[in-house]
Amino acid sequence: MKLKYFKIILIAFLLITSVNAEEKLESEVRGIFDFGIYTTTPFHYEVSSSMSGKYGAFYLFDSNVSTQWMSEKSSKPAWILVDFKEKRLMNRVEISFPSWVYREVKSYSIQVNVWGNWKTILKNQKVKKDNSHFLPGMDASQIRILFPETINSHLSVSDFKIFLEDALLNGLNEHLTGHIFPIVDGQLPSESYSLPGAPRAYRNGFHKGLDIRFTKLNPNSELIPLSKETEVIATAKGKIIRADWNYIPMNLEEFEKQKELTNQHKVTFVDRDFGGRQIWIDHGNGVITSFNHLSSIESKVKVGTKVKQGQVLGKVGNSGLKGEVEGSDEGIHLHFEIWYKGEFLGKGLKADQSYQLLQVFFKPY
Ligand SMILES: [Zn+2]
Repeated sequence: MKLKYFKIILIAFLLITSVNAEEKLESEVRGIFDFGIYTTTPFHYEVSSSMSGKYGAFYLFDSNVSTQWMSEKSSKPAWILVDFKEKRLMNRVEISFPSWVYREVKSYSIQVNVWGNWKTILKNQKVKKDNSHFLPGMDASQIRILFPETINSHLSVSDFKIFLEDALLNGLNEHLTGHIFPIVDGQLPSESYSLPGAPRAYRNGFHKGLDIRFTKLNPNSELIPLSKETEVIATAKGKIIRADWNYIPMNLEEFEKQKELTNQHKVTFVDRDFGGRQIWIDHGNGVITSFNHLSSIESKVKVGTKVKQGQVLGKVGNSGLKGEVEGSDEGIHLHFEIWYKGEFLGKGLKADQSYQLLQVFFKPY
């Protein structure tokens, strides 16, 4: 009975938090882009208007051309402003449009703030889908794109990137986006406890992944708990670098001993990790993903095997957890980790930053 109430409260909590996140996004016309070590530096941004949270200004800077900012329909000029709040050196910008809109955009100007006024330094009257402009070397803190002509519709822009030579100043590394979710229709957790960087006092450290417990079924958006039949898939193409074919479950005595040791020392132990049966994939460019607590592994998945995006790797489970030791279904979920250049993605970020970073990492459905 108690467990049932807990589940109802948990589901209600998840629904409330996801509604809140949506409301917050919907009013966004300005914001701060800040993913700690994963961005060059935090910067502020503003746009003339945003049609909705789904097409917010945030998507101008996520290095994902399949997402975009969309303005409201308006007869006034539209604009995008990036404000670093301090001097930056810059000498190139890139502006990309969705393929269905760029022909409608007749021109735009790139402007900088000089003594409180916007000065045009470049005007593009031959707009293409992807545009790259070398600028004179500038030390500026603010830069703006102005679209003087209205296109009698919503204006859409996919990406707005500012560079100093090859260094991207206002966005996210392109390798940290474009993955699909590891479970079809899986629910990205929004509660901080399930996100990377959450404290785990009983394990003497921090949670290094995200815990996925539900699939979301549309149109009723009902949350369905994962089971040992739920498949996990490769989030991007890559090479298998670990597949625990010789995994041996812990017995209760070993589990308790492991728990006690982990409590005392900030260490984990090979083959005797709470991660249970695991698969790791190297996606190149420093990105590694890790699937934990699996109940089974697909026969083709072996170390050295190349996998495609979306390929089935195995099934969700509770290996490495007490439920497995006790022979029950307790605790079934996918603990999924993303490692970037040797560190877990989300290190040093607050829960809301981690949540937003993961929304960017995974392609929107
Ligand atoms: Zn976890």
